[in-house]
Amino acid sequence: MDYSAILHEIRERLAPVIGQGRVASYIPELATVSPQHFGMAVVCIDGTVHSIGDADVPFSIQSISKLFTLVMALQCEGDALWQRIGREPSGNPFNSLVQLEHEHGKPRNPFINAGALVLSDILCTRYAVPETAVVEFLRKLAGHENIHYDRRVAKSERDTAHRNAAMAYFMKSFGNLKNPVGQVLDAYCRHCAIEMSCIDLARAVTFLANHGVLPRSGERLLTASAAKRLNALMLTCGTYDAAGDFAFRVGLPAKSGVGGGILALVPGECGVCVWSPGLEPSGNSLAGSLALETFTTLTGRSIF
Ligand code: GLN
Repeated sequence: MDYSAILHEIRERLAPVIGQGRVASYIPELATVSPQHFGMAVVCIDGTVHSIGDADVPFSIQSISKLFTLVMALQCEGDALWQRIGREPSGNPFNSLVQLEHEHGKPRNPFINAGALVLSDILCTRYAVPETAVVEFLRKLAGHENIHYDRRVAKSERDTAHRNAAMAYFMKSFGNLKNPVGQVLDAYCRHCAIEMSCIDLARAVTFLANHGVLPRSGERLLTASAAKRLNALMLTCGTYDAAGDFAFRVGLPAKSGVGGGILALVPGECGVCVWSPGLEPSGNSLAGSLALETFTTLTGRSIF
């Protein structure tokens, strides 16, 4: 498959849309990013890289971190994790509080904020400095050392994290957070503030396209069954309350973030990442979801 030609075609088709949508501003530092960025990368299991535009520019991965903290939490806890976090799409905004009360402090899934706060809590129990462990894991997956979290973005989010704090205290009242709320919020905001490029992220997800095995080294990170389940969760819950529409239009497992990144994968073949900071109302990149829709249309590579 000539992915380079396809990426060129996608950028040409999307040119009128790039810059549309709204850049996330509820985290003040994110509002400073230009909406004109557009990058996209395909990294195949055999290591081939295809990219276009700003594919090598690092951006704030935000909720895409939830995918990797889930992998790490699963490595620590195994299936016991599912006693604390559900596996159903929420049908509500990613920062919604309403379902937590009905479900006694058990988040609907790991890819909404409440679920990821529990993941961060698990990592706080397991690691002395959880954000360092997450950054190191991502360095290994992306194959280079130059990955960090942006301290200004982390502080900007932490200073304004009132809603996430409310969720965390609420879950703590049900016993579903073990560590002090402040410590969990610090870790969570640092995980969200990690910066990576489309090429880094597309490479980092190739193990999930490869039945849980890191292609370069052959190291198994998850069982084939856990990798399959994770892909299913990305499909059903990875793009907030737009997950149904995203599956309908794109048909690939994916995880988005309010930094404007969407990370997807074609099982057995490649990781695909797109970045364009303008968001649609659910919080997914507007041009990014159109780019992935065009990708599966042009390549015929969806899971359906
Ligand atoms: N850091 C963001 C938050 O907690 C992540 C949200 C997102 O990317 N959807 O609100």
